[in-house]
Amino acid sequence: MPVAISNNRNRHIVLLTSTFHDSMEQDLERLRTEATSALEQVSDDTQLEDFRIKYLGRNGQLSALMKQLGSASKEDRPRLGKLANTTRGALEDLFKGKATVLAAHTESSDTPDLSLPGRRTPVGKLHPVTQIMEEICSIFASMGFSIAEGPDIELDHYNFEALNIPEHHPARDMHDTFYIGDSVLLRTHTSPMQARIMEKQQPPLRVIAPGKVYRCDSDITHTPMFQQVEGFLVDKNVSFSDLKGVLTVFLRKVFEKELDLRFRPSFFPFTEPSAEVDIACVICGGEGCRVCKKTGWIEILGSGMIDPEVFKMVGYDPEIYSGFAFGLGVERIAMLKYGIDDIRLFYENDLRFLSQF
Ligand SMILES: [Zn+2]
Repeated sequence: MPVAISNNRNRHIVLLTSTFHDSMEQDLERLRTEATSALEQVSDDTQLEDFRIKYLGRNGQLSALMKQLGSASKEDRPRLGKLANTTRGALEDLFKGKATVLAAHTESSDTPDLSLPGRRTPVGKLHPVTQIMEEICSIFASMGFSIAEGPDIELDHYNFEALNIPEHHPARDMHDTFYIGDSVLLRTHTSPMQARIMEKQQPPLRVIAPGKVYRCDSDITHTPMFQQVEGFLVDKNVSFSDLKGVLTVFLRKVFEKELDLRFRPSFFPFTEPSAEVDIACVICGGEGCRVCKKTGWIEILGSGMIDPEVFKMVGYDPEIYSGFAFGLGVERIAMLKYGIDDIRLFYENDLRFLSQF
C-alpha cells in the first residue's frame, strides 16, 4: 500500500511504491538541482542560514529523504545510501563555498579603499563681526592708536559719572542698562575706558577700546549684546579738524571707497561740541535707496571734542589739553559692508549664514 511521506514544506511528496528506488533517486536529483539554484540567490548571512535549515538541517529536506532509506530493499539500500551521502556532500561543499564568498565580501566592504580621495576636515572661520573688529583695530593701529580692553562688568562710576552723566541725568534713560547691583552694571558702551585710562596716564594719548557692550534692547537693528569700538585722542592743540581727518581716513579704509562724510550737530554728555557722522550710502552711492531711507546718507558713528568736565574729573587741565572721542558699532559696519539687513543673524549661530564670510 502506498504511503505518502512529505517533507516539512509539503513540497516533495514521495510515494513509496514498488519503484521506490527510482523515485528516491529522482527526488535526490531534484533536491540537488533546487538547492543549487536556491543557493545562487543567497546574498547575505541570514539567507544563508535559512538555506542551511531548509536543505541541510536536521529537519531539512535532505534528512527527510534519508529517513526513507530504511524502507528501501536490501539490494537498493547501499546504492541509495551512497547517492544520498554524495548529494549531502555536494550541497555542503556548495554551502561552505557560499559562506566563504559572503565572508570575503563583508570583509572587503570593511577594509578602507586607499585609492579614494580623503575626507575634507571642515575648517573653522572667524565670525564676520570678529573679522570686521580685527580690520577696524588694524586700521587704527596703522594710525598710531594703541588698543586697550576693559571689563564687561563695570562700575556705575566709570560707565556714567566719570563721563559727565550723573545720577538722574536724562541721558541714562537712553542706555537701557542691565544693572547687576546698585553701583555695578554691564557696560552700555566702551567709553568707560576713556576715564579708566585717562586717570592712570598723562597725555598724549591715542587709544581705541574695542569690546562687547550690553543694552536691554532687541529688534532687527538691536541685540542685547553688541560690539563697539571707542576711540579717543588727547594732546595739546587737538582740534575738530583732527577728528574729521582721522574719521575720514578710517571710514574710507574700512569701506574701501572714497566716501563722502557729513558731520551733523548732536549731543553726548561727555563731548562738546558733539557730532554724528554720516557717510554717503554705501549701497546706492547717494542716489537714495531703502537702506538709507531715500536720503543718500547713513548714520555711522557718534563723536565730538572731549568735554572739559571729563578732563577735570581725571585731573587734566582743559586749558592745556584738548582731545576728541568717537564710538562706533561694529555690527553696523559689518551690516553695511556685507549688505545684511538684520543684526540678529550674526548671533543665531547658523553656519549656513556664518560660513559665507
Ligand atoms: Zn542708499
